[in-house]
Amino acid sequence: SGTPSLDGQVANAPGLTSTASTGLAIPQDAGTASSSIISSLIGDNPYFQAGFGLMGVGVGLTVLRQGLVFGTTALRRRLLVSLEVNNKDRAYEWFLAWLAHNAQSAAPTSRRTESWLRSHQLSVETAVEQRSNGSSSVLFRLVAGPGTHWFKYGGAWMQMKRERETRSMQLMSGTPWETVTVTTLSRDRHLFSKLLAEARDLALRGQEGKLVIRTAWGIEWKPFGQPRRKRPLHSVVLDTGVSEKVEQDVNAFLQRRQWYADRGIPYRRGYLLHGPPGSGKTSYIQALAGSLSYDICLLNLSERGLGDDKLNHLLSNAPERSIILIEDVDAAFNKRMQTSEDGYQSSVTFSGFLNALDGVASGEERIIFMTTNHFGSLDPALIRPGRVDLSVLVDNASPVQARTLFTRFYGGSESIRPELIEPMGRQVEEFTVKEMSNGREISMAALQGLFIRNNAQDAVKTLPELFVDRRT
Ligand code: ADP
Repeated sequence: SGTPSLDGQVANAPGLTSTASTGLAIPQDAGTASSSIISSLIGDNPYFQAGFGLMGVGVGLTVLRQGLVFGTTALRRRLLVSLEVNNKDRAYEWFLAWLAHNAQSAAPTSRRTESWLRSHQLSVETAVEQRSNGSSSVLFRLVAGPGTHWFKYGGAWMQMKRERETRSMQLMSGTPWETVTVTTLSRDRHLFSKLLAEARDLALRGQEGKLVIRTAWGIEWKPFGQPRRKRPLHSVVLDTGVSEKVEQDVNAFLQRRQWYADRGIPYRRGYLLHGPPGSGKTSYIQALAGSLSYDICLLNLSERGLGDDKLNHLLSNAPERSIILIEDVDAAFNKRMQTSEDGYQSSVTFSGFLNALDGVASGEERIIFMTTNHFGSLDPALIRPGRVDLSVLVDNASPVQARTLFTRFYGGSESIRPELIEPMGRQVEEFTVKEMSNGREISMAALQGLFIRNNAQDAVKTLPELFVDRRT
């Protein structure tokens, strides 16, 4: 008894008060003695007083600092509003282009958004602009580089922070992640939607009347080159009724979304244009996409690194309002083409391709156009309905096509009297009939080449030399 037990409890020790919970024991007599020592230390010792004073100041400052941090965070939360856009979103490019456009178009005296140009971090974006006569020029556009920039929009100052993630890359495309954060006062938050709409309209205005071609970039569809000028549909001269047939089918399909949905049928349609090279298959599909204001997603099945999985992903994730174009669909699965010169083997298998075409039914609309020069070598499994719903022959020039192309080319030209165009056109038609009955033909591309190089008289004269045997 009287000795502290192991768990710290002390029992019946004279002169000791015990605090059972902590096991701390203070001698009572010692208590009065020590409190007087402490009070004399605190009361009389100047060092101790100074120490307490300093501590007080320190605590005060810390509290103040914490308060400030807390206060600014709260203020930021309440007063500021941020908009984050990352480079996976289409608005990202639009926004940077919009900022660059406004900075460059603003007159030097105008203070609209030029302020950020004084910034020290700029990036360059090179653009090739194609003019209507086919010539092109290269432009450099300065866009805000990674870093912080300020600009004024609609009377409000905005801070724009462009950040690049250096440690991780976007999975398939290999481009670094980037984000732009625009911050402004909370009361100006309505400006964000206005700003984004302006950026979108600017981007879309640049594409108006243009055809955007996309190619697969990893597992994503990225624009390939600058948007091209649309080709008028009537400038591609197909045989009587062919163009109308395809156009009607596509239009009917586009109007039947609900019909497909009601029946639970995947909303997709496949087209195959087959025929000899230079007959206008690709040109027609591009012109058709342009007339529908659709983009083209160009898919090359023999592309390196394209495997069944990626193909499946690409086919089921094409951007809205786009036509997927697969050219020379026979070539990808033909032994000769499958191994390229350096021994690379295309990794898309035929069954993988069929699976991707059939895909898991999604509500998304999908239009695929395929072309081939060798209809006969296609596997019948590919051309069955559901995969190819409409298959049309786009052949070498028929007599009517030859005449129409002739009159289209020389109509309005000064080198030929207007009244001569029709009779000469008929001459071209009759000549084509005669040659075809002898098994000789001419491609539309060859006719186009002839008409580009010659005036009408010379073209008619040179025409016979260009017909070739059907079999060659
Ligand atoms: P394909 O895809 O059938 O091989 P393209 O569409 O690539 O043929 O045509 C090659 C070139 O020939 C293009 O410059 C195109 O303008 C011209 N051409 C081919 N067929 C036609 C046609 N039916 N009408 C007008 N131009 C044509």
